[in-house]
Amino acid sequence: MELNENADIDTSQVEDRRGSGGGGGGLGGLPIGGGGLVGVIITLVVAVVGGYFGINQLGGGSETGDNTNITQTCEQDNATQQLECRNVLYINSIQAYWNKATPQYFNKQYEPATTVIFSQRVNTACGAADSGVGPFYCPGDNKVYIDLTFYDVLSQQLGAPGEFAQPYVLAHEYGHHIQDITGQEAKMRQAQQGASDSQQNALSVKLELQADCYAGVWSKAATETTDKKGQKLFTSLTQQDIQEGIQTAGQIGDDVLQKRSGNPVNPEEFTHGTAAQRQQNFQKGYDSGNPESCDTSF
Ligand SMILES: [Zn+2]
Repeated sequence: MELNENADIDTSQVEDRRGSGGGGGGLGGLPIGGGGLVGVIITLVVAVVGGYFGINQLGGGSETGDNTNITQTCEQDNATQQLECRNVLYINSIQAYWNKATPQYFNKQYEPATTVIFSQRVNTACGAADSGVGPFYCPGDNKVYIDLTFYDVLSQQLGAPGEFAQPYVLAHEYGHHIQDITGQEAKMRQAQQGASDSQQNALSVKLELQADCYAGVWSKAATETTDKKGQKLFTSLTQQDIQEGIQTAGQIGDDVLQKRSGNPVNPEEFTHGTAAQRQQNFQKGYDSGNPESCDTSF
């Protein structure tokens, strides 16, 4: 994968909250997936106190970012060598794709969604969150949340060191934003009402696999996406990148994570899908390049 060094990196699509402290916050709705990109990472990686469960401090509320530093950094010549700027570029590309594809495939306008880059803790409309839950999308405020140190967890602890793990993660979260826009997320929540725990989990798996499929769909179109001046954001994307995406999807399958954490594999507790399912869905989206190929039967 090569990024266009000359592309304009649009930092207005992110909110840099790494300078602010986070803190408590009221509990709102759960984020999609109930725990971000991965199912059991909470128990696996960090002993999280708080997260979506057990926060009882109130307050906080409005918390804003300061993009001064990130904007300066991403305007420099070597910006694509910086992790944060590469991530902004990925976000720019993902949103550029959906800006075109949402009206085309879903007959809806795309609404831009900000990604909040935070450090350790953050307040969201879905409650206060801890880095340990991994990246997630909050439908309450239509924002993606990520602590970039999650990529260290992916590479050092979860066996997904490839650079393409990063855009895959972001594209998966933006997939949830698309589900929010199209109403599929709401439909899934409705279907969960009154269902048994294992049925609720099965519905969650469907939603997650669709988000993986959407990540594959974006990957197919990534090299076509441009900045506001029409300059390509990627100059190349290879089969090796796609393999890294598939590898990442495999390393965060529920079965793999359950095994890794020393627990017996229990399909009834799956919320995101097995490694094989996650890989297949990413691949399906990539092969078709068409979001309509991603299962929508909630
Ligand atoms: Zn998800």
